[in-house]
Order: sequence, then C-alpha cells, then structure tokens
Amino acid sequence: MHKNSSIEINQEALLNNISFLRKTLGKKVILSSVVKGNAYGHGIPEFARSAVHCGINHFSVFDVDEAKEVKREVANQAEIMIMGYLAEEDLEWIITNEISFYVSDKIRLEKALKWAKKLKKKALLHIEIETGMNRTGFTKSEISAVAKKLIQEKSFLTFKGLCTHFAGAESVANHYRILKQIVRYEEGYQFFISQGLKPEIRHTACSAAAMMFPKTRMDMVRIGIMQYGLWSSPEVYVNYLNSNKQKKTDPLQRIISWKSEVMNIKKVNPGEFIGYGNSFMASEKMKIAIIPVGYSHGYSRSLSNHGRVLINGKRCMVIGTVNMNMITVNVSDLENIKKGDEVVLIGSQDDISISIASFSDFSNQLNYELLTRISRTIPRKII
Ligand SMILES: *Cc1c(COP(=O)(O)O)cnc(C)c1O
Repeated sequence: MHKNSSIEINQEALLNNISFLRKTLGKKVILSSVVKGNAYGHGIPEFARSAVHCGINHFSVFDVDEAKEVKREVANQAEIMIMGYLAEEDLEWIITNEISFYVSDKIRLEKALKWAKKLKKKALLHIEIETGMNRTGFTKSEISAVAKKLIQEKSFLTFKGLCTHFAGAESVANHYRILKQIVRYEEGYQFFISQGLKPEIRHTACSAAAMMFPKTRMDMVRIGIMQYGLWSSPEVYVNYLNSNKQKKTDPLQRIISWKSEVMNIKKVNPGEFIGYGNSFMASEKMKIAIIPVGYSHGYSRSLSNHGRVLINGKRCMVIGTVNMNMITVNVSDLENIKKGDEVVLIGSQDDISISIASFSDFSNQLNYELLTRISRTIPRKII
C-alpha cells in the first residue's frame, strides 16, 4: 500500500445515488450493482461493503476473480452474477457457491451442464442473446438448440435470466440501433415462451438504457456508472433534465475522492523547461509543486499539460508530462503553500471541486477508463 495518496468512498453519497435510482427506475426492479473493473476503480471490497449497507443485494461482475472478491466481502448478503469471462476450472466454485453466470455460446452451455451433473447441483444460467451489438450472445439460429437443452436438462440447468446488452444507449446517434435491439430481444423472449420456457428474470439495461429507454428496465437493471454518481454521457443527463422540467440540479453525487499532498516546491526562471523533455517551458518566473502521483497510480498521461488539482482551495494546472510517479503543477498564485499541504486530484476543497469529467480531460466518455485505471494499491476507506 502507498502512503503517497489515498481514496475515500462517501457512503452517504452512494445512498443518495441508490435512492435516486430506485425512485426513478421503479421499486420493483432489481438493482444490480455493477462492480467490474475493481468497482470502476473505487475498490471492490470497500465499495461492495458500502453498497450492502445501502440496501444492494445483487452484484454484477466480469469474471470469477471479481466474484470471489465480492463474495469474500458480502458473504451471503447478496446474489452475484458473472457477465463476462469464465474458464472451465472456475465452474466448480461458481456452481457450488450458487453464483449465476452468462451463457452465450454452446461450449459454455455444455461445460456448465457437465459440472452441474458432476456436482449434483443446478447451474444458474443467464442466456445471453445476440441482438445487434455483435460481441457475445446466441444468434437467432442457435436459440432453438439452447431451448431444447434447457428442457432436456432442466434438473441441472436453471433458466435464471434472459439478457442482452445494448451497443451505446448513451448516445442519441445510436437510437435506431437500440430500438432494433429491443425488438430482437422481444422476439427472442417470445421464442422461449413459445417453447414453454420462462426465464426467472429478464434484464437488458445498463445505466444509459435504463434512463433513455424505460421499457428496457424489465425485471432487473445492471447499473454501473450512475451508482458512482456519474452520468453515462452528457446526453443522458440532458435527457433527464428535459424530462424533469422542475429539476435543475444534478441528483447524483460523486462518491470517490482522491487526495495526495505536496511533496516539494520549487521556483523556476523564465526559459526553463519543466520535467522530461520540452513539453512545458516557463514563460515567466514560476512556482511549481511536485505531487507524488503519476501514471503508475492511474493518473493518466493524457492529463499532461491538461489536468487540474486543488491546493489551498485553488485550481492548479498540471504542467509538463505526467511521470510514472509524479506530476508537477503550477502554484505561482499560492502564497502560503508548503510541503505536506493537501492536494485533491478528484473531489472538493472549500467550495470548488474537481469532477471526474474534468479530471478526465473534459470528456465524459473517458470517465469509465480513467476511473478503472486508478491503482489498486492506493489505500481506500469508507467515510
Ligand atoms: C458494464 C456493464 C453494464 C453497466 O454499464 P453502465 O453504463 O456503467 O451502467 C451493464 N451491463 C453489462 C453487460 C456491462 O458490461
């Protein structure tokens, strides 16, 4: 664990976000908390613990390692669903622990059946259907074989869910594509019904779909980015504001803060280059501060000469390139700055704050990527 920076998870903000989501998406809809990518960089152990305190009882992960991390933290207080990769050797643990998982190809279906028989315990399957993203999922021509298997082997296979994933519901540009996916999903569902097979739950929506296309909410929504207090894109936020004329403020609250401290302060003369190479030259007398955080901790190189941090209640620019373990910021305007002063990389200081959007180069699309890159080795605590 480092001591050079720390992360705080604000449980009250999480509760606020979850309450907003429940109110908006409907109380009957299961809210599955998506914690892949180390809970979008927040840290699975701390985040999952907090989420359970806020009433979450369903988690979605990408793979078995994440499932184990959640399980270790929440034991039997929540269901866990694996949406992504698994290897055959994982199936014993998965089935024994009643973890449900996506099945999107014949090979996985066969292996699941084999292990369920071996363990004499039902495998809990979410059948994923291809509706137009063209990534994973059974195509139309494959689903009758799947249905047959589910019927033949119903003492070993539980039809837990029928699911799909939308290809970019956060952008209006994809509106038509998403509508087509919804229709194909519905056709797939009707096919299973016609075979006398009814999944326990139907689920298709991520945050953006749940907000933009209410009929995709069905029995369960898989919510990632919004529970962390961020919108999937500015379009989703604007769409929300337009549909709620009386609401003018953001109902979501960022729950992560990332802080460090001033490690060193220097004065630089005009004409001097700062840091590696020549990406920044001082054009006047400057005072600079060195912060012990760099790209190895997840402070992206794309923030070179772009990022901002807060020191003594003021916004300061990152100058020069982001190094592996350090950044340099311009503190010429701060008179009383000293070594050890708090530096906010994400979060608030006095009345101002650095949102993840500004941390991430002013582009919301990068929120997901920059958050998940924040290093696991930084200590995290719940406040
Ligand atoms: C990541 C993911 C989600 C959650 O997406 P957000 O945009 O963060 O809400 C939902 N479903 C699947 C299959 C995912 O991979």
